Amino acid sequence: MKDAHPDTIAAQALGWIDETTRAITPPIHVSSTYLRDPDNQYRSGRIYARADNPAFDQAEAVISALEGARQTLLFASGMAAATAVFQALSPGDHVLAPRVMYWSLRNWLLDFAVPWGLDVELVDMTRPAAVQVALRPGKTRLVWVETPANPLWSVTDIAATAQRAHAAGALLAVDSTAATPLLTQPLALGADLVMHAATKYLNGHSDLLAGSVSTRQDNEHWQRVRKVRAQIGGTLGSFEAWLLLRGLRTLHLRVRAASASAQRIAEHFSGHPRVAEVLYPGLPGFAGHAVAQAQMRGGFGGMLSIRVRGSADGTLDGEAAAIAVAAHTRLWKRATSLGGTESLVEHRASVEGAGSPVPADLLRLSVGLEHADDLIADLEQALAAR
Ligand SMILES: *Cc1c(COP(=O)(O)O)cnc(C)c1O
Repeated sequence: MKDAHPDTIAAQALGWIDETTRAITPPIHVSSTYLRDPDNQYRSGRIYARADNPAFDQAEAVISALEGARQTLLFASGMAAATAVFQALSPGDHVLAPRVMYWSLRNWLLDFAVPWGLDVELVDMTRPAAVQVALRPGKTRLVWVETPANPLWSVTDIAATAQRAHAAGALLAVDSTAATPLLTQPLALGADLVMHAATKYLNGHSDLLAGSVSTRQDNEHWQRVRKVRAQIGGTLGSFEAWLLLRGLRTLHLRVRAASASAQRIAEHFSGHPRVAEVLYPGLPGFAGHAVAQAQMRGGFGGMLSIRVRGSADGTLDGEAAAIAVAAHTRLWKRATSLGGTESLVEHRASVEGAGSPVPADLLRLSVGLEHADDLIADLEQALAAR
């Protein structure tokens, strides 16, 4: 099954059958504690649910199979997963992170990781030469990239960055939330770790918070990531693990449908009189298109952003126009998050606040599973009404 197509791995969730009941759908394991053997051993390998839970096994195995990973760990959220990778490092370690990245992780790095002694440097990850200059051989422990990166969808060349990171003795970790394992396999391109906000596409129904980190190698850093989960306790709940597994079974269908619609929507609004720019890796004129084409397959994902033009008479600037467009959408729901069945629109600058590289006229669009014609018509009427 591990060598099957991703569609088959996802649809059957690796084909597990419950040993005791022959159930095709797994039970929800809720026990927080496990019986110790009479001779004082724990042969089951399970002790306490903060460290581990049988509810995780199948979802972790499915994500590992889809990513070509050695192991995967589920966490209570994408942020719990991402921060575990950094918390496994030591004070004084130098790490590189992107200027354009998921805002909450950038804020955590600056608000907590730096005061706790991590030497964090933000660089332009779209330029491998800039990464080369920032790397300090023997001192840089981790390079963190996100591709395509929220919410400008900037593309990072994973293979080129991995090569440079490894030459300097650093690990490369990729936040692949927007790409999903269907469209990009960072480990096959040379990355050491791949992280997902499983809250988004892996689950796909906007009904849970979860995160995952997968590794190519079982090394010392990975053992510390495991300890972070067990000791700090950013552990996923049983019911959420079960919902995640259920969502994973349709990952391939959802991601392909969202990508196809996003491509259509991006093409439709390129050159639109009320749209200054469409940011989408699938557009030939987009800065990261060539790299995206080389490292993504089967589509460019369901996320795009548009920059809205202000009114010609100057009464409405781009920011006010963008907020007005979001106010007039009916199908596109004004909400944060992404990767669910329903399409979402968000004025990102309002969310990210000061220090964000996001232009004020930008609307982030998460394309869901509605018909693309309906989504286009709704955005057309909202742009006309702004
Ligand atoms: C949502 C998101 C996260 C954080 O995930 P949570 O589950 O909300 O903690 C991290 N990275 C990216 C790219 C995201 O979209």
